[in-house]
Amino acid sequence: MSAVNKPKPDPTPPAPREANHPHGSPDTPVQYVPGVGPQRGRQLERINVRTLEDLLYYLPRRYLDRSLIVPVRALTLSDREVTVVGKVSTFKTIGGGPLSRRFEVEIADGTGFLRGVFFQGLHWWSKAFQRGQTVAFSGKVSLYRDRIQMVHPAVDFLDEEERRGMTARTGTIISLYSSNDALARAGLDSRGLRKIMAAAVNLARGKIPEILPPELRDTYGLPEREEALVQAHFPQKEKDWKLALRRLKYEEVFLLQLSLALRQHRRKTREQGIAFPHPQPGGLTARAARHFPFELTRGQRGVLTEIRQDMESPFPMNRLLQGDVGSGKTAVVMAALAMAVEGGYQGAVMVPTEVLAEQHFRTMDPFFAGLGVPVTLLLGGLPAAARRKRLAEIASGHARVVIGTHALIQEGVEFHNLGLAVVDEQHRFGVAQRLELRRKGERPDVLVLTATPIPRSLALTLYGDLDVSLLKERPKQRQPIVTRILDGKRRDDLYDFLKTELRKERQAFIVYPLVETSEKLDLQAAVEAYGKLSQGPLHPYRLGLLHGRMSTEEKEAVMADYSAHRLDVLVSTAVVEVGIDVPNASVMAVMGAQRFGLSQLHQLRGRVGRGQHRGVCVLVVDPPMTREARDRLAVLEATEDGFAIAEEDLRIRGGGEFFGTRQSGAPDLRLADPLADRELLESARTDAFAWVARDPELEGFAPLRRHFERAYGAKMELMDVG
Ligand code: ADP
Ligand code: MG
Repeated sequence: MSAVNKPKPDPTPPAPREANHPHGSPDTPVQYVPGVGPQRGRQLERINVRTLEDLLYYLPRRYLDRSLIVPVRALTLSDREVTVVGKVSTFKTIGGGPLSRRFEVEIADGTGFLRGVFFQGLHWWSKAFQRGQTVAFSGKVSLYRDRIQMVHPAVDFLDEEERRGMTARTGTIISLYSSNDALARAGLDSRGLRKIMAAAVNLARGKIPEILPPELRDTYGLPEREEALVQAHFPQKEKDWKLALRRLKYEEVFLLQLSLALRQHRRKTREQGIAFPHPQPGGLTARAARHFPFELTRGQRGVLTEIRQDMESPFPMNRLLQGDVGSGKTAVVMAALAMAVEGGYQGAVMVPTEVLAEQHFRTMDPFFAGLGVPVTLLLGGLPAAARRKRLAEIASGHARVVIGTHALIQEGVEFHNLGLAVVDEQHRFGVAQRLELRRKGERPDVLVLTATPIPRSLALTLYGDLDVSLLKERPKQRQPIVTRILDGKRRDDLYDFLKTELRKERQAFIVYPLVETSEKLDLQAAVEAYGKLSQGPLHPYRLGLLHGRMSTEEKEAVMADYSAHRLDVLVSTAVVEVGIDVPNASVMAVMGAQRFGLSQLHQLRGRVGRGQHRGVCVLVVDPPMTREARDRLAVLEATEDGFAIAEEDLRIRGGGEFFGTRQSGAPDLRLADPLADRELLESARTDAFAWVARDPELEGFAPLRRHFERAYGAKMELMDVG
């Protein structure tokens, strides 16, 4: 998100001024903005500000509203956020225990003193201040031992001119810009940036074309583009910048969604994929449908119809199947695979873990064997001879259905004719890996599955151009899963309960958390518990151990034993999180549950209650169980709706989980926040898709088309399967 942290290699020499950008056009190199010049220009390029337009879109990080500045003497306790501007008088770190250690700064504004208190980032804060320096503290005022203070105020360092500006009668709102050391050394601290923004705005006046179709602007009452850019930098009132930002955010998401809509439109109208033949009566697809040990649910049939329509059509399918844990996605995949095979093609299923690959193989191999369809399993750790044999089966086309891990996309794996590529638990893969699987065939149809119920607002951004099928309903005979939170001090209650279930011939999982700092520790917890439990509390039941460091064969053996009920309890690390399906398992106990994300716990819980037995999920919280931990986990007690849980998770932990860590391929939104701005995002998406449906060449509004080609033209070609 932040452009500031992305240094760029040294820029090439700038193009001459007159080139193809009349001075003041959006393309004008930033160094020609008065007050910038080559040296500052280079610094700006490092934060990806290369043109006048880039500079104008470098928006303030915050606004200081002069009308909210309050002299210390006039401060009152209230819920309103206020700003105090003063000079630093004293600061110190106050010792005490780890919980009361804090850093305090006092500022004076001539009417009194205000203390700012910091509990986090003490080291950083203790270096941040200098005596006599002018700062603005913004936040809520609270009372502590009869003295007013602000806890963790937003801090802005001001210089003399800014301070005067704040107290003078000119201009109500001051824009504050992010800067960095290099920029600041080049004179581009917040104030320096504000100066060149003024020049940039002057230079660009009258030359910034409107790119949003007027009817859309009208619909939302949005200001024109130029007006919005001016107001975003130099607002008079709070309302000005709010409206300006709204317009610029809408513009950002509309353009993004437009690119997705265009991509989807192209895929569906121009790309030639495989048109699978309509399944024949008595053909493999029809026989497969009768071969399931259960009736497909209405939801499964509905989703299959959507998939079949895509498969029969000549364009390459690019569909996301979203279905909560236990909704029965695997059966849908098997039916789709049957259709691919009936059409004369191979189908492949890629999954994130070996355990899951083996499980799919155990489900699909006998199923397809009964239909005369050979299935091959490809894993990373295979002995050379076995690997060679399986690769040959895949290349010759003998293997009609291929199941595997990342091993499927390695070099040397060649398919005879891959027609349907399925990616299970797709959130575990990066975009690049999904693409690689697709490249193993010639424009095969692609189906990606996820049980992580991505909140819609995120799905819209993450999987923009995919078609989405939703599998909501679960197979009928399911009973609800009972979820209980248990204080770790009462572990014995858990063991007692486990034994009652085991006595009824049920099976159980006990999962130990990932200790972030050390994979070894993580392992240890599970290994130790395994040893202790088998001798002590769970004696004489048969326990198995599963963790990520075991070899493929070891894991395979343990899972096979557990599936066949040769083991009663599976003690494991979080590797069972995705996909494991053992219908006889009725208890999922998660130790150290507070260390897991809610969605992850929901996934774990989905491992039980899959057969005809009632499922119980026990979330064991390490003592001391804080109220916060309990409240968070209570969401799981309250609902089984994975979507609601994901939303809550997102609210608590922010979008980073979805965006950052998983190479999700999420597009960079600089202004809009998919959570906070979800309504805007959804409107923009509807608008963009409707526009493209009506006007796929963007001929209806020439400035939009021109802008789009300039801004997204090159990127369009890079965008591919989501
Ligand atoms: P997920 O969507 O989490 O991948 P699975 O495909 O593993 O779920 O299915 C969960 C369980 O439900 C499996 O044991 C499967 O055999 C069973 N199942 C799937 N579809 C049906 C159905 N229509 N009726 C009854 N049971 C079903
Ligand atoms: Mg699954």
